Amino acid sequence: MKIDVLGLQFDNVTMDEALQRGEAFLDGDRAAIVVTPNAEIGYDAAQDEALCAMLNRADLVLPDGAGVVLAAKLRKTPLKSKVAGIDFARNMLSVFARRGTRLYLLGSKPGVAEQAAEKMKEMAPGLVICGTADGYFKEEAPVVAAINEAKAEAVFVCLGAPKQERFMFDHRDELPTVRLMAGLGGSLDGFAGNVKRAPDWMIKCQLEWFYRLCKEPKRIGRMMRLPKYVAKAVGTKK
Ligand code: UDP
Repeated sequence: MKIDVLGLQFDNVTMDEALQRGEAFLDGDRAAIVVTPNAEIGYDAAQDEALCAMLNRADLVLPDGAGVVLAAKLRKTPLKSKVAGIDFARNMLSVFARRGTRLYLLGSKPGVAEQAAEKMKEMAPGLVICGTADGYFKEEAPVVAAINEAKAEAVFVCLGAPKQERFMFDHRDELPTVRLMAGLGGSLDGFAGNVKRAPDWMIKCQLEWFYRLCKEPKRIGRMMRLPKYVAKAVGTKK
């Protein structure tokens, strides 16, 4: 079931259900696309029909963030749960390890994907990372070729939104071995340990956004989209 928030159709799933869908994609016959929009992207998508339509074409649209969950609740169409992209990714690692799925990591600054790969292999023993590449390439064709060369079955595409979504939709049909692609923003930095997540109590209290703001005050501009998004969602502001 889908829940509409300002035109974006979120899948109303728990983490377990998201993981079941993710695993089912691995048995599919083409590259399924998972997107993880937060309130900031939701706000942009509300002003940009093409972006919104692209995100809605994904096979799984996960509500990444407290802002989306709050907006859905205030609209009286609550979502079951927040399913943060990085948490979905971490949980999928065990699924990949169990099945021997070949995972490719794309994105972030040079060196980060390799560091993330090491950490991921510690988290999910037996995990097969079949290749890595940084996200600062000029041409996309060699990146697509490298993913194919590695015979990747799953790809974490971490280029920031909406660049990562464009990459996934532009190339899904050129990746014959891939069954699952997920757009995960800054997640590789998170796995590599370059960006610390908020303490658990802050995550539980839905205050992760505040922690990130304190760490990176320059995010204030983009973060202002969060209250604007929620206000727009409840119709108090057009
Ligand atoms: N990034 C990249 N290539 C680019 C631009 C950004 O690989 O051309 C990476 C960047 O290094 C960071 C991630 O994409 O790891 C974007 O993270 P951010 O937190 O800004 O995005 P969000 O998760 O909010 O979409």
